[in-house]
Amino acid sequence: MSQPTIPAFVQGTKQLLIGGQWVASSTGQHIDAINPANGELLCRIAQGNAQDVDRAVAAARKAFEGPWSRFTAHERRKLLLKVHDAIMDNFEELALIETLDMGAPLARTRGYKEWLSQLLQFYASQTGLAGSVTGTPMSIAPNFMALKHQVPVGVVGGIIPWNGPLMGLWWIYGPALATGCTAVLKPAEDASLSSLRVSELMMEAGVPEGVINVVTGYGKDVGQALSEHMGVDRVAFTGSVGTAQAIVRASAGNLKRLQLELGGKSPDIVLADADLDKAVPGAAMGVFSNTGQVCVAGTRILVQRAIHDEFVQRLAAFAKTIKIGDGRESGVQIGPLISQRQLDRVMHYMDIGGKEAQLVHGGQRLTGGELGKGFFVEPTVFANVRNDMTIAREEIFGPVASVIPFDTVEDALRLANDTPYGLAGGVWTQNLGTAHKVSQGIRSGTVWVNCYGVIDPATGFGGTKMSGYGWKGGKEHVESFLYPKATYFNLV
Ligand code: NAD
Repeated sequence: MSQPTIPAFVQGTKQLLIGGQWVASSTGQHIDAINPANGELLCRIAQGNAQDVDRAVAAARKAFEGPWSRFTAHERRKLLLKVHDAIMDNFEELALIETLDMGAPLARTRGYKEWLSQLLQFYASQTGLAGSVTGTPMSIAPNFMALKHQVPVGVVGGIIPWNGPLMGLWWIYGPALATGCTAVLKPAEDASLSSLRVSELMMEAGVPEGVINVVTGYGKDVGQALSEHMGVDRVAFTGSVGTAQAIVRASAGNLKRLQLELGGKSPDIVLADADLDKAVPGAAMGVFSNTGQVCVAGTRILVQRAIHDEFVQRLAAFAKTIKIGDGRESGVQIGPLISQRQLDRVMHYMDIGGKEAQLVHGGQRLTGGELGKGFFVEPTVFANVRNDMTIAREEIFGPVASVIPFDTVEDALRLANDTPYGLAGGVWTQNLGTAHKVSQGIRSGTVWVNCYGVIDPATGFGGTKMSGYGWKGGKEHVESFLYPKATYFNLV
């Protein structure tokens, strides 16, 4: 079957974006961008370092204090809408770059289009939050007036993971452009290409120089330097708990504002009265989609004992039907894992699961034919899992479902909350009262009832406990790029 042609952008060594210029890294070194579906070299990205971060932060500061600070809310809105159009016009190329670089099927990456359109329009609608447009003048005494409004925090460092950068980068660029902040983006070393191409399109659409900057490279170099940098006012981080802890420590120097969006071990609770025709595919794709590399994945499927065996059998049957392959091929539902490192990690947990629980389906790397060249694994189902088992406690970030039986709603909630994480959760039931009780009882930032993974740009999502803090999407997100300011006027 013929596959889409590799875009011209995917060649050579991609440079850093600093102050509106594409420049070489100070190290002169590069990192290979590998297609995880076949292990082939796509192109190279520059390996940045702390010196490059210095240059990018200086450019971002200059833009923040310079012409960008004079953009009105109306001008920022117009710019965001131009960026929106540039992204939409080039979306087919962006979707393909994302598929090549991180493996997700084209059906998925193309599917981001409508959602991203809504997200960008949402941010465009929020530009009035910054400055005096929505500020409140207050007459606080006969001769005293106060003006309370919100102003941009300044230079924002954005550190993002590889599991969906084409979407994830907008949690930085969107609110930065909406509020008048500037940004230095550090994409993950395993998947930087969509961030680079999006940034190029944004510059062409008229984003002023220095407003967005991109420094590619390793976390220990670029991410660490951004987190420590005294010229960065806020770090918006998405990634793992261990890295978040390093960022908290590194950011202490100037008490940076932090947003930490981390991992999870989210419970997806299936009650005996659930409509299994919806619950089975819903829960299955809640854990298998994007090859399980989703922060909110419902990896612990808690199933009421009366339907446990039937559910497991139907879940395994569904898993068998999933088409796995190179994301460029039509009909493919899940692609490879991102890297050899991630493959080793997932296989490690599959081995542990095989020893501690009952393997019902999957558990293997796919080694036959073309798939053997990539990092493919089977969607995997373990049954009769106990919540204290390793596969129920640790985030695997692969297509591995752990089905855990329970008896009562109270048991389900106890098990659901017996985790250090608090990112998301789901409940499947036809009883509205039970849906309400369970959804309120799950200690997490986001809960889905009779669906999974739905995220509305204006509502957003976030986590609690060790899944971090901050909120993505919605007004709160935009406001977290601002701080409140009061000015008191003595009118005498
Ligand atoms: P990771 O923490 O290893 O890497 C994330 C980013 O941090 C990368 O860009 C990396 O280069 C950088 N980094 C690494 N070390 C650093 C350091 N010392 N200082 C600063 N930056 C550093 O995470 P990952 O493996 O790339 O991503 C998977 C994790 O991300 C999972 O835990 C997943 O649940 C989480 N995630 C969370 C959300 C959310 O919104 N809550 C969304 C997607 C992914």
